[in-house]
Amino acid sequence: MIGGAGRGGPGSAGGDVVVENSQALLAAITASSTDAIISKDLAGRVTSWNAAAERLFGFSAADMLGQPLTRIIPPDRMEEEAQILTRVGGGERLTHFQTVRLAADGRRLDVSLTLSPVQDASGKVIGISKVVRDLSDLQRLNLELQQREALLQSILDTVPDGLVLIDQHGRVQSFSAAAQRMFGYAAAEVVGRDVSLLMPADQAAAHGGYLAHYLATGEKRIIGTARTVVARRKDGRTFPVELHVSDVAVGGNHSFVGFVRDLTERQNRDRRLAELQSELIHVSRLSELGQMVSALAHEVNQPLTAITNYASGIRRMLGPDSPPAMATAFEKLAAQAARARDIVQSLRGLVKKEARAPQEENLETMILETSSLALIGAGRAVGLKLRVAADATRALVDKVQIQQVLLNLMRNAVEAMAGAEIRTLTVATRRVRDRIEIMVSDTGPGLPRSVQERLFQPFVTTKAEGLGVGLSICRTIVQAHGGELSAGPAEGGGAEFRFTLPATAAGREPGGR
Ligand code: ADP
Repeated sequence: MIGGAGRGGPGSAGGDVVVENSQALLAAITASSTDAIISKDLAGRVTSWNAAAERLFGFSAADMLGQPLTRIIPPDRMEEEAQILTRVGGGERLTHFQTVRLAADGRRLDVSLTLSPVQDASGKVIGISKVVRDLSDLQRLNLELQQREALLQSILDTVPDGLVLIDQHGRVQSFSAAAQRMFGYAAAEVVGRDVSLLMPADQAAAHGGYLAHYLATGEKRIIGTARTVVARRKDGRTFPVELHVSDVAVGGNHSFVGFVRDLTERQNRDRRLAELQSELIHVSRLSELGQMVSALAHEVNQPLTAITNYASGIRRMLGPDSPPAMATAFEKLAAQAARARDIVQSLRGLVKKEARAPQEENLETMILETSSLALIGAGRAVGLKLRVAADATRALVDKVQIQQVLLNLMRNAVEAMAGAEIRTLTVATRRVRDRIEIMVSDTGPGLPRSVQERLFQPFVTTKAEGLGVGLSICRTIVQAHGGELSAGPAEGGGAEFRFTLPATAAGREPGGR
């Protein structure tokens, strides 16, 4: 039918049938158009009004046919109608004429008009047809689109990850602010160029092949997963990045969005953390050793004193007829034992720290400071839960020593949880009469049966590199504070250590810190 209309035209052979057909075609097109189509005669009276016009203006065809079109023209736009009639009546065509019209309910509609003269067979203008497009929807959509774009742009400008959008040929289409900072290129220097610009030579050569391979086979190598690759800055320096690529297929066209995260800083941080941790372990080893020496010295001192006393005693008991060599030997024995005691004593003095008077300390601060040391290296893998009861916020302690106890217990817990699925370290304080109890528990495998009985004895360890003195030192420190350290199973598996400390007057006030 369309072909028929196209072949025939006014004046062609058998014209009437063709004209009838083309009128039917026209009527069908008009009825189904989503744009309002209206025609009027030169007096300005409506001669046709399609379904879309009914929907847009809220007037039915029956309302409008034969009526002056001024019904839909706002009073302040009346002179427009006179102009339109003159210009289009004179044979002119007006396109994209933006104006305002009125709907039946009085709403003002932003519309765009395309007006054409309707001519009879002799070419005389007998009316005007117009296509009315509702701009309000378009404008709203446009505005929404602009807002979304602005939002997207501001998100892209703020996320610390760089974003690189490429088309299916590998040409960069968009290069975010973070990407610009990371790579040292301005967007204008990169957009339109091949993305291999951002890669070291060996990867750059292979990239085009990857892309073609993916498009041909759908086989993913990097798409959809994050991986660490090397990127190249404008100045030629290379740096490690984590790259995450996703494929955006719209209408059969593929684009690829790459999120790029600079790993330089993270790698530096990880290295620094590892250094700090090994320093920490070294320092805590030294302090453990120091305490061990002190404890050993104490133990050895007593037998040495006894030896000195016995030797001197025997020397005094020897009669005048005893061999003189024997008396000399006992004298020497006593002198050597006294010397050994002095050496041990001075060694003890060397490692013994000055005893400090206990101070009132804020437990939450102490615990948080210690946990940041204890969790070094464990990172986010271990979650810390801290519960400080309102009436257990302060205690009377030697801060350094109690922090050593906390550090030991927390490091043991972190080490115990290394292979556990859930890793939560809980530290809680509560008041038990005039004392504060601190509880450190973990979600590790719990205390090994083999050490349970002898946990607090020195040199008991299940660790290849352990000294096994940590818990014995902890108990000594806690006892020096007049408290007790005990261990047991935690709720839901894991180990739980509890120790008590003297509370302070201030700690007694609810919430007092
Ligand atoms: P080290 O840590 O050097 O082994 P410790 O005296 O601190 O010395 O600990 C002794 C042993 O107690 C550890 O080797 C370990 O077997 C056990 N232990 C300590 N804390 C925990 C814990 N939180 N969970 C499981 N076992 C633990």
